[in-house]
Amino acid sequence: MPIADRHLRSLADAEPVPFWLDTPAPEAGPTLAGTVEADLVVVGGGYTGLWTALMAKERDPSRSVVLLEAHRIGSAASGRNGGFCSSSLTHGIANGLSRWPDEIAELERQGLANLEEIVATLSRYGIDADLERTGEINVATAPWHLGNESQMLDPLRRFGHDAEWLDADALQGLVHSPTYLGGLWNKTGTVLVNPAKLAWGLAEAARRLGVQIYEDTPAVRLEKDGAGMRVRVEFGSARAGAVALATNAFPSLLRRVKHFIVPVWDYVLMTEPLSAAQRASIGWEGRQGLADAANQFHYYRLSADNRILWGGYDAIYYAGGRVAAEQEHRAGTYMTLAKNFFHTFPQLEDVGFSHRWGGAIDTCSRFSPFWGTAYDRRVAYVVGYTGLGVAATRFGANVMLDLLGNQRTQRTALKMVSSKPLPFPPEPVRTGVVQLTRRSIAAADANDGRRNLWLQTLDRLGLGFDS
Ligand SMILES: Cc1cc2nc3c(=O)[nH]c(=O)nc-3n(C[C@H](O)[C@H](O)[C@H](O)COP(=O)(O)OP(=O)(O)OC[C@H]3O[C@@H](n4cnc5c(N)ncnc54)[C@H](O)[C@@H]3O)c2cc1C
Repeated sequence: MPIADRHLRSLADAEPVPFWLDTPAPEAGPTLAGTVEADLVVVGGGYTGLWTALMAKERDPSRSVVLLEAHRIGSAASGRNGGFCSSSLTHGIANGLSRWPDEIAELERQGLANLEEIVATLSRYGIDADLERTGEINVATAPWHLGNESQMLDPLRRFGHDAEWLDADALQGLVHSPTYLGGLWNKTGTVLVNPAKLAWGLAEAARRLGVQIYEDTPAVRLEKDGAGMRVRVEFGSARAGAVALATNAFPSLLRRVKHFIVPVWDYVLMTEPLSAAQRASIGWEGRQGLADAANQFHYYRLSADNRILWGGYDAIYYAGGRVAAEQEHRAGTYMTLAKNFFHTFPQLEDVGFSHRWGGAIDTCSRFSPFWGTAYDRRVAYVVGYTGLGVAATRFGANVMLDLLGNQRTQRTALKMVSSKPLPFPPEPVRTGVVQLTRRSIAAADANDGRRNLWLQTLDRLGLGFDS
């Protein structure tokens, strides 16, 4: 059978739903109808909103907290990601080093502490999120990746990580792919989780502390109301002294946020469970999270039942920046993902995919979250994780609570926290700029990493596009 037909066949039975959500979900919370009062209203029921609600109660158990989720808890990025729960607050140490060289040691320290606190929270509330402390290997698959990756070994060690450089033999001994030339294994910076179980577990813990969660309740408008705020929903409203916005790539209730964010779609395939022989053919006993080192990169990992999740590479921006259900699938990207999967693991040529899905990422031009307040600090937001938010959302939520409480902390003292990224230009220029950047990134990957004039200009300005 020609190779392209084999790739197509591997996709034939893939269900168009996120694997993590393809299991009975907890019973839906009520929909808000009428008016509720609280001290804090959180808008958005992904990790950012859930951590905000949970930690608000932990900080002050007497505070009443209401959370409004437009659909279901964890139905967006938080229930459909790769489950790489990474300590980096800056979308990787290289990005952090280049943007905040004077602060990176502190950013890494706080990032590692944040990751440890996530692990401790899961244990405190008995949340079973299939957590595995495997670390992550960044894999070089082209000679030009080797230098980029190996030069990160020293900074990682300097900033408290247990990291090791693996040459081609050592790496291929761990995970059997003919494409591997070497890799950087950061053993401390990443734990793997089941994303949906994490979201549902956080929601359950928040409920137990008294948070009222409303689902299928989109917030439509923010209004000042006396000394507080009113969040309007379709059939009522929630009134509170403070509001935390946790809406990620979706349109913000604050218009100003749209200048800084482009929703970018990332797509994922999940294989069927591997047989014992297939599992043995790839090694991978350490079950590390893996990612390749190109600009357009894949991330991949094993699930608890020994499937391979294979995502990334394409980062798709749809003109106009809408986030809509019809964008959740993209045939061309699924074919690219399948082709690259079999290139990486040719020994798995008879494996089929059981699930395919996509999700929206909140890309900003500095690839790291940023914060802001409005209405005299009655409202705070955090957004811009750019595809590395599984762990950083807890930090983002903590900063929002600091800002709403007018508290100066070691978090709010960070330059990263007090500064904003450069905005993207408005449409239609935005679409042109994003597509030119995407084409240039693909060309750089095909050209031994050499960056064209456009990318060099963006680099000089500290601007970029990533997933
Ligand atoms: C395919 C994919 C793979 C990824 N892989 C990884 C990974 O391996 N590691 C990693 O660190 N990060 C990864 N990410 C990114 C990570 O998932 C996100 O950064 C993180 O989940 C963001 O959480 P959040 O709560 O801010 O956003 P979301 O999970 O998107 O939650 C926002 C919620 O707000 C709700 N909402 C929006 N507007 C309103 C409104 N007006 N009223 C009420 N509710 C509203 C939405 O319905 C949604 O549930 C990935 C993302 C995708 C899409």
